[in-house]
Amino acid sequence: MASSSAQKQRSALEERLLTLIRANGPISVADYMADALLHPHDGYYTSKAPIGARGDFTTAPEISQIFGELIGLWLVQSWIDIGSPKSFNLIELGPGRGVLMADILRAAALRPEFLNAANICLVETSGRLRHEQQKRLNARRTEATPPVDWADDLESAPEGPCLIVANEFFDCLPVRQFVRMETNWRERMVGAVEENGDDGLIFTTDKTPPLAQLPLPDKTTAKLGDIFEYGEAHEAAAAAIADRLQSNDGRALIIDYGHVHSGFGDTLQAVRDHAPWPVLDAPGDADITAHVNFERISRAAFDRGAAVFGPVAQGTFLDRLGLAMRVERLCAGKSDAEAEDIHAGAFRIAAASEMGEIFKVLCLSTPGLAPPAGFDA
Ligand code: SAH
Repeated sequence: MASSSAQKQRSALEERLLTLIRANGPISVADYMADALLHPHDGYYTSKAPIGARGDFTTAPEISQIFGELIGLWLVQSWIDIGSPKSFNLIELGPGRGVLMADILRAAALRPEFLNAANICLVETSGRLRHEQQKRLNARRTEATPPVDWADDLESAPEGPCLIVANEFFDCLPVRQFVRMETNWRERMVGAVEENGDDGLIFTTDKTPPLAQLPLPDKTTAKLGDIFEYGEAHEAAAAAIADRLQSNDGRALIIDYGHVHSGFGDTLQAVRDHAPWPVLDAPGDADITAHVNFERISRAAFDRGAAVFGPVAQGTFLDRLGLAMRVERLCAGKSDAEAEDIHAGAFRIAAASEMGEIFKVLCLSTPGLAPPAGFDA
């Protein structure tokens, strides 16, 4: 009888990775995650339609239009705070299906000068999602809609004053993991194991010790088996934002789920069809994320000269921006069922028991500007 692993349907990417690992040895968790999400042929974001009720997961802008509308108003205020430049870049990192940007533009229409000044730059690697973003933004295109362009990364976005938004972007950046072994840290790897004549992916550890210059915590602070996650790509992205805010006036709003203080633990998780999924099963067919370490990204940005505000809980931030009033206004003249939906959406994005507490909001800013809305105590 065939083993259960032999019966399991392998994804195309799993085949590729097994071949690669058999030839060259295990790969880091970060390389596994990067391939699983962004491989040019078989990566999850490259080849699937991940977001929304018919996808695998949903996000705040997909749940309630109020999320993007309040952020739109925050951006208008931030534009005023940076001196209402006649031309600026409105940059979104990882725009998904373009829902957040569409809601931002609708709310920002109350300041036509803002829309006139804006050039939209969507930083997106997936051709499929670029297409979807284009369709959504074109569908609502009016004369007032700013021009939209795409970039592969923040470094390629045009220079100039900027406002940057990133919702659930950092959580899909690849994370490295290190395990506390008997004597010291070892990098956690993804290898291949042979079982009943068939092989599958497994977690293993690197044979050689990690490089001394890696910023790993003192080994005496960790217990045997503890996992430390190092968001090298996260810190590089935060530093790149900070560099941009040094050379151009601007602000960035980073929203994601994660923790405020560094600690130990394995936060790598996969989801498929709105349910948890084993991280090493069928890579490319499931979303894989890790919690964002806000302490480390704040530090990386601060060290590069950015002013840092927060993080504050998403619920607190939305309340401070006027969530309750927006709900009330949106419900006016609606049927009871529609009003119930509006309330339910607002509850999901802001209640502490839902997304309101685990999701955090961080603002990085050019130093010396007025304090950003939503971050005061
Ligand atoms: N912000 C959206 C979607 C979040 S999903 C929302 O709130 O609904 C993550 C998004 O980031 C997707 O659009 C994905 O294709 C994109 N993405 C992931 N890694 C990326 C990378 N390294 N560079 C650019 N975009 C990336």
